[in-house]
Amino acid sequence: LRSELDNVDRLSLVGQMAASITHEVRNPMAVVRGFLQLMQEKSPESLDHYYRIVLEELDRANSIINDFLSLAQNRIAEKEESQLHDIIHELSPLLWADANLRGQSIELMLDHNVPKLNLNAKEIKQVVLNLARNGMEAMNEKGVLTLETRTDGDKVELCVHDTGPGIPPVKKEKLFEPFFTTKAKGTGLGLSMCQSIVERHNGTITVESEEGRGTTFKVAFQR
Ligand code: ADP
Ligand code: MG
Repeated sequence: LRSELDNVDRLSLVGQMAASITHEVRNPMAVVRGFLQLMQEKSPESLDHYYRIVLEELDRANSIINDFLSLAQNRIAEKEESQLHDIIHELSPLLWADANLRGQSIELMLDHNVPKLNLNAKEIKQVVLNLARNGMEAMNEKGVLTLETRTDGDKVELCVHDTGPGIPPVKKEKLFEPFFTTKAKGTGLGLSMCQSIVERHNGTITVESEEGRGTTFKVAFQR
């Protein structure tokens, strides 16, 4: 029954989102269209700037659609016994590359003794990647992103901590709403997607944040 209810919830969420996504994807499309018209009239040498904007806006529309699709996916993802640290290790090259480019560093505090969990590794990777990217995007140079796993009673926890500016209480309430973003190029779908995936794993995702001192997202699974 619980999973049926979850499905109904998810489907109505998807319905509501279909309306907003139309709106969200139309924005970059309108920009691209406008710029293509302008470009028609320009000399070839002055086009670089326009090409860049057009490509960026197309990428943005693409990310919105990608994020939306993974959120809307209704298939039951296959799960298998997995070790959280394996999932994190598989992601590390990607995370390190990203952090390096930003002049930031990553610390791993992985408890290799946490029990295996019944997970869809691909989906949990998306969660970790999204939380880590958000953390990195919130920090400036020299920021430190920490990924931690631990057992707490009957729960296994995965924490993603950043040394960024933190999140003011007014924004905290909106974080998981689809399309809530404070970024010029954000889709606002990352955390909705994380929440939907974590809930499909019967887990919870919570945030603790202190302004000026950083933010921790905690994903807790039942062991
Ligand atoms: P996006 O990253 O596309 O903006 P998300 O759903 O991933 O969308 O995040 C929504 C918003 O939550 C972000 O725009 C940002 O304002 C806020 N946020 C998320 N993670 C953090 C973080 N680690 N530190 C500060 N703000 C955050
Ligand atoms: Mg994000």
